[in-house]
Parts: sequence; C-alpha cells; structure tokens
Amino acid sequence: MMRMILVGPPGAGKGTQAARLVERYGFVHLSTGDMLRAATKAGTELGKRAHEFMKDGKLVPDELVIAMTIERIGQDDCKAGFMLDGFPRTLPQAEALDAALDAAGTKLDAVVLIEVPDYKIVGRITGRRSDPVTGKIYHLEFDPPPPGVADRVVLRADDNEEACKQRLKKYHSETAPVIPYYGAKGILRRVDGDTTPDGVARGIAAILGA
Ligand code: AMP
Repeated sequence: MMRMILVGPPGAGKGTQAARLVERYGFVHLSTGDMLRAATKAGTELGKRAHEFMKDGKLVPDELVIAMTIERIGQDDCKAGFMLDGFPRTLPQAEALDAALDAAGTKLDAVVLIEVPDYKIVGRITGRRSDPVTGKIYHLEFDPPPPGVADRVVLRADDNEEACKQRLKKYHSETAPVIPYYGAKGILRRVDGDTTPDGVARGIAAILGA
C-alpha cells in the first residue's frame, strides 16, 4: 500500500480513475470534494461555510480544508496508505500535508498528474452526470448512463459553465504551482488524460507498477 495523490484540472477524470484504483488496488480513497459535499448535505458548520465557496467554483479556504484532510488521514484506515483526490489544491495545502506526514514519520510515494488540455475541460464537465444511488460518474456523450440509470442521473451544482470556467482559472493560478513543487521532490508522474478512461487507467497502472 502506498500514499499517493491524483492531481489534474477539474474534469480530468480524477474521480473516475480513483474509483478504478480503489477496485484494483484497494486504496482508501479520500476526495476532499466528496467530503465537503457530504458535510454540506449533512448541514454541518463546515459544510455550510464550504458551500458558499463551492457553489461559485471558488476554492474553500485552506485552513478549513487542511484541518479536515489532516484529521482524516490520521484515522486508522489511512495508516497503511491512502489516495488523495482533489487535495492539495494550493501550495500551502501541499506544504501542510508534507508537514503532517513528516510529523507522523511517513511521506508521499507518488503524485500522478492527469493532463487534459483546457479547451476540452468545459465539455467534459458540463456533460458529466452522476448516479445518486451508486455514485458512479457518467458522461452524456462519452460514457452515457445505461437505461434504468439514465433517468436518475444528476448534474453537480458546480458543473455549470460559469462555475466550471472559474474552477479552471483557479486551477491554473492556485493549483498548478504544486506541480513543480512535487517535481522538485522527484515524485511527480504525468499521464495523458486526453484519452479513454481505460487508456488513462493503463497509464496509471504502468506508473504504479501493476
Ligand atoms: P471536486 O469534487 O474535487 O471537483 O471539488 C469540488 C469543490 O470543492 C471545488 O471546486 C472546491 O470548491 C472544493 N474543494 C475540494 N477540494 C478542495 C481543496 N483541496 N481546497 C479547496 N477547495 C476544495
């Protein structure tokens, strides 16, 4: 088991690949977006505060996300390893994660960057739908939901064009700096995300050494 991170622009396929990695390697999957959406749904104080940023495609402030994530990776099921998806999204988050792992006497094994060109992102996101029953992610054009599921899939509140453009902008200004940060540590691996889910999964498996 290892400690790894999936990085990439919104709509790169992090959630889709994370689900496959869980199946294949048994990773404990930590999606900060999922955690924040669950908190919002549960109506907690954190959820209410986070929602104000999420609905417009803005980043939730570092102090909230860092505290939530560090607490989560300290839990027993993460002791042997985990896969983070959607965290870190800023350099201070990356540094806080390193500090917490360092204090626990561990470190990251790999950071996988899923690369997709900007002009493909909006279409990938606005066509995205998820099944509220299974949590599985579909795309109306590229991976349409089967009959029986098609009539219950939902669009994420922040998957509209406006919020999506905002998220892409934030990705470049806030998140992209973590790429050279991990590059300098020698743990960054790049995979071409502009292909099929199977193709990306093969790329990641090759990196992780299936
Ligand atoms: P995601 O499901 O990863 O696309 O995240 C959905 C939204 O949750 C993002 O657009 C942010 O508003 C918020 N969010 C998730 N992870 C983070 C993070 N690490 N830092 C700040 N905001 C986050």
